Amino acid sequence: MTAIILVWNPDEWNDWTYPAVLEEVAETGRHLASWDIGTSLGSAAGPAGAGNAVGADAAGVAAGAEAAGTDAWLVLQGRHGRGLIGHGIIVSERPAPRIQTPDSASAAGAGAQDDAQPGATRADAHPGAQAPSPLYIQVDFDALLPAGDQIPASVLAETVPGIDWGALHGPALAVDPAVEPLLRGLWGEFGPVPADPTQPVPGTVPAAAVTRVEVNKYEYSPDARRVCVAHHGTSCAACGFSFEIAYGEIGKDFIPVHHLVPASQLGSAYELDPITDLVPLCANCHAMAHHGVRTPRSVAELRRIMAAAGFLTGQSVTPEQLQAQQDARRILEQH
Ligand SMILES: [Zn+2]
Ligand SMILES: [Zn+2]
Repeated sequence: MTAIILVWNPDEWNDWTYPAVLEEVAETGRHLASWDIGTSLGSAAGPAGAGNAVGADAAGVAAGAEAAGTDAWLVLQGRHGRGLIGHGIIVSERPAPRIQTPDSASAAGAGAQDDAQPGATRADAHPGAQAPSPLYIQVDFDALLPAGDQIPASVLAETVPGIDWGALHGPALAVDPAVEPLLRGLWGEFGPVPADPTQPVPGTVPAAAVTRVEVNKYEYSPDARRVCVAHHGTSCAACGFSFEIAYGEIGKDFIPVHHLVPASQLGSAYELDPITDLVPLCANCHAMAHHGVRTPRSVAELRRIMAAAGFLTGQSVTPEQLQAQQDARRILEQH
């Protein structure tokens, strides 16, 4: 399956509040959007000015390239900068002429609005329309770079030649399958850093090779994590494990955070307090907090379990530290 390039020129279309979209992707792993891909799908060359004019050898959107499961690369154009800024997956079965809000898309299920005859749908949606109406696809954006951090057109041109990255004429272009591994490589090198390092950054492996998992968005919010770790430190609240002490430089500042409030108890008005509701837990303790229970075990419970197993006793306390504690207690008792 070939991938698709979505050309985004904020000078022409900027309904996105990009920082909010970025935050949503960071917290929930995705942002669903309707994307206008022009009017003449399936045509390699397309009539001039029809909306899918192409740069260099890249063909117009090839038939089938816009099907569900296709990788979509978001490329920024215009005076705000040019370059690769995001990745997503097409979730609609096929392009449709109607604008669909993300809400109605998720409520109806992707592609569900296309139950009618495809031809009839188009005609009904725009009765008497002279010009072909633009077609929309639903894209689940799953990895985005902050504005300004896009992989520049010059870097793209060096690594992925044959496409005029500085002058893409949108709105959507098919990507030569031979080019895809190069894009993935670049994205792996310069793309976003995952909150969970055991998970691949979306886009760095073919969509067909990964399954999407739901995550607790409170445990993946970068801002909330920062506040939590600034307050509680980077050692595990249950066992005291420090990734930096154990692994040195590569473990510096690394600690997963755990959301203490059971998800089943969250009301719709819930607002996260990163200091009281999040706690740093090492990967082992985090797994054991969730393992086999619907309501996560508390930190105190984890500590009790580890102490009962003899694991916590004296664990991280050296004889010198023990002596220092005894000395301190003796001094305090003398006064
Ligand atoms: Zn731990
Ligand atoms: Zn957790």
